[in-house]
Order: sequence, then structure tokens, then C-alpha cells
Amino acid sequence: MLNIILFGPPGSGKGTQAQTLVERYELIHISTGDLLRQEIKAETPLGLEAKSFMDKGLLVPDEVVIGMISSKLENNLDAKGFIFDGFPRTVAQAEALDRLLSFKETQIDQLLFLEVDEEELVKRLLKRGEDSGRADDRDEKVIRNRISVYKKETLQVANYYKEQGKLTYVEGVGSISQISNLLIHHIDKLR
Ligand code: AMP
Repeated sequence: MLNIILFGPPGSGKGTQAQTLVERYELIHISTGDLLRQEIKAETPLGLEAKSFMDKGLLVPDEVVIGMISSKLENNLDAKGFIFDGFPRTVAQAEALDRLLSFKETQIDQLLFLEVDEEELVKRLLKRGEDSGRADDRDEKVIRNRISVYKKETLQVANYYKEQGKLTYVEGVGSISQISNLLIHHIDKLR
């Protein structure tokens, strides 16, 4: 199996790059943000709970997202591997992910960290808010809050995998294909 965490702040291009990588390596894309937005759209109790956090730019509680990941893994036991996008966002989520993967006798191969500076992130997210209409991309205050939550709660996840010798930094500013090529270069070295 090939299990990659695509990591980086909101707006660093994780979703965009994941699309190319899942096709190339035939992996399953797991984006907790997308899964949560589907729950909101379907107006499930989980979606309703999640929305109140997402609208403010706060993290949804760990047990909610860990539960979603667990069932996604169970439903794809024959997968060639996974690309995790927007998960794990806390050290508790990373520990839970490692545990879930070890039950399947597999593990994370590498965390690829897309590096993008803060002003570029805000610019990209406001533009995405205009194009896609995502509610949490339309308000600069919510965007700045998400970036600050990222720094306070999520950045430590990179250290967690660094301690396991599984962290690679990738330049996240450039054309979409330039960045894909950098990611592909690193992934090919893992196989
Ligand atoms: P994203 O689409 O990854 O930018 O996520 C959008 C929002 O969904 C985030 O701002 C959080 O409120 C929530 N969310 C997504 N993934 C997670 C996660 N792994 N843990 C907690 N909250 C999450």
C-alpha cells in the first residue's frame, strides 16, 4: 500500500494536487472537509453538528472526524492506498490514524508538506470563495481564523511525523503542474 498525507495550511492546494495524485497512483482520496460538506448537504445530525464549527473556522471535534475516517478505511479494504487531505489536523487524530492503519497492517509512508506563505493563502481562499461559493472562504475573518487554528493545532502534526522520519517539504507556490511534478518526484522515491 501507499499511504500519503497531503499536508499544508488551508488554501495550500491539497485538494487540487490530490486529484492528480489519486489518478496517477490509483489511490483513494480521503478529504475530511469534503466528507463533512457532504454530511451538511444531506442535513444529517453529524452535518448539523459539524456546520457550527466549520462556519466559525474551528476544528470539528476529533471523535467525529476519526469516526468518519475509520468507516472510510473499512469500506475500502482492497485499496492500493490512500491520500489523506485535510486529515490528520491534530496530534490526537494522527495517533488515531496510525492505530487504525496498524490494525490493517499498514502505515503512513510520508507526509508531504505544501509550503505557501500566509498572504498568498488569504488571496487564494478569497478567490475560491468567489468561484466555488464555499461559505468559509467568503469571509476574511473566518479565513484568518482557520489559518490561526492551523498554526495552533495542526502544525504539530508535521512534527509528529518528522519524529518518525516521514516529513518532506514541497514548494507550494508555482503552477499546478510544477507542484504536481515535485510531489510525483517525491512519491516515486518511496515506491
Ligand atoms: P477543508 O475542506 O479541509 O479546508 O476543511 C473545511 C473545514 O472542515 C475546516 O475548517 C474544519 O472546520 C473542518 N475540518 C475538515 N477536516 C477536519 C479535521 N481533520 N479535523 C477537524 N475539522 C476538520
